Amino acid sequence: MLYRAHPFHWVPAAGLRHASTDRRPDAALAYPTGTSVSPLCRQRLSADNSELAWLWSTCRDCDAEAHRIARTLHTPATERSK
Ligand SMILES: [Zn+2]
Repeated sequence: MLYRAHPFHWVPAAGLRHASTDRRPDAALAYPTGTSVSPLCRQRLSADNSELAWLWSTCRDCDAEAHRIARTLHTPATERSK
């Protein structure tokens, strides 16, 4: 069965965990600290890849948008029109 990864990554920035569709640097597992990212909540933020940053709570706007994207990807076309 084909697994398609979600087209976004979680990125801690400005005290919240955001989701961004920005490409990460090659081979990076996370956006390095200081990377300029444009998360789903449409702010311009600087990534914070410190250890504690991953414990921040999720940005509500990014969470809602990430769920919408995930539903779009994983819902068969026949279900979408309901
Ligand atoms: Zn956000």
